[in-house]
Amino acid sequence: MLARVHTRQGCVTCPIGGDPPAALTIVATVGHKSMNRAEDVRAVQSGLNHVPAPMGGPAKALAVDGDCGAKTVAAIEAFQLKHFGWKDGVVTPSGPTLIKLSALLSAFGPQAVSEPDPSRAQTLRKRVQRAHQQMPVLRQVAMDAIATATAAVTFVDNGFLAHIDELGPRNAFRVADRYFAFGSQAAVVTRAELQFVLKMCRRVASAIAVRLGEIHGTPMGLPLFAADTTDAKFYAYTPRRSAPTTTAMGASSIYLCDLIDDEAPERYLRILCHEMFHFVDDETTEHEIVDHGPVGGALDLTHAQRMHNADNYALFAMHAHTGRAPPTF
Ligand SMILES: [Zn+2]
Repeated sequence: MLARVHTRQGCVTCPIGGDPPAALTIVATVGHKSMNRAEDVRAVQSGLNHVPAPMGGPAKALAVDGDCGAKTVAAIEAFQLKHFGWKDGVVTPSGPTLIKLSALLSAFGPQAVSEPDPSRAQTLRKRVQRAHQQMPVLRQVAMDAIATATAAVTFVDNGFLAHIDELGPRNAFRVADRYFAFGSQAAVVTRAELQFVLKMCRRVASAIAVRLGEIHGTPMGLPLFAADTTDAKFYAYTPRRSAPTTTAMGASSIYLCDLIDDEAPERYLRILCHEMFHFVDDETTEHEIVDHGPVGGALDLTHAQRMHNADNYALFAMHAHTGRAPPTF
């Protein structure tokens, strides 16, 4: 299963759960002007595909076809540049590239799903309970974000007029602008983008309302959060809907990992919020909410990146909720 994973290094897309990968070994060289035994090439192609793109994996998965073409060589070179600062496009059986690749696979490759022991099961239950107890607060965060985005639209509709003596709309726009950096673009574009922010916040609020069972008074009974059972050392992850589900874990919940238990309330809420924005995107080019850059870098992104970066939405929503800028960790 492919998931968006909140790690200490930032958010990455990587496979989780499923079968453990076969040990990454090759018999002869793979890559540029190499032996390129089909079996070896497949091992390298599959290995590279399991490395998250921010950590040197290919942005678009390689075909695991045993044929070492230009794309495979380019992926090897990109991986080498990322980790060593040099490239020769060749993976040798006991060389640095293979060693680095193997090390990353043990950290990010699919991990075996094990049955939790009773005390572990209790820990997992408590984790899910804590998240579900936060649902009303999380819904309030979404409602506050909706109110702020709506007020910001009003400000734009009034021509950004300084004489408008409504602190509310002007301040709401300032808050939105802090996280989305609209810049000097045409007002009509800014308005459309604020409407987009509004739409995503509404989706979060609806998702929570549905899971809380508050639509038409019919409890849906669907848990929004579930505990990760793969012992991944992450905070949380949102499975991609488009990925084939290969385990009992599906794409209908946000999975919470061990690290999240130690988080203080506000940051905890923000992580849930961050995952919610991934959760409600439908993975179309228009609506995709991804992760650009490392955690803490949300305010260093370009305007276009911010419009599709989960952390900018989470920061905006938390600011709307608390009335102050959260730390950008
Ligand atoms: Zn993320």
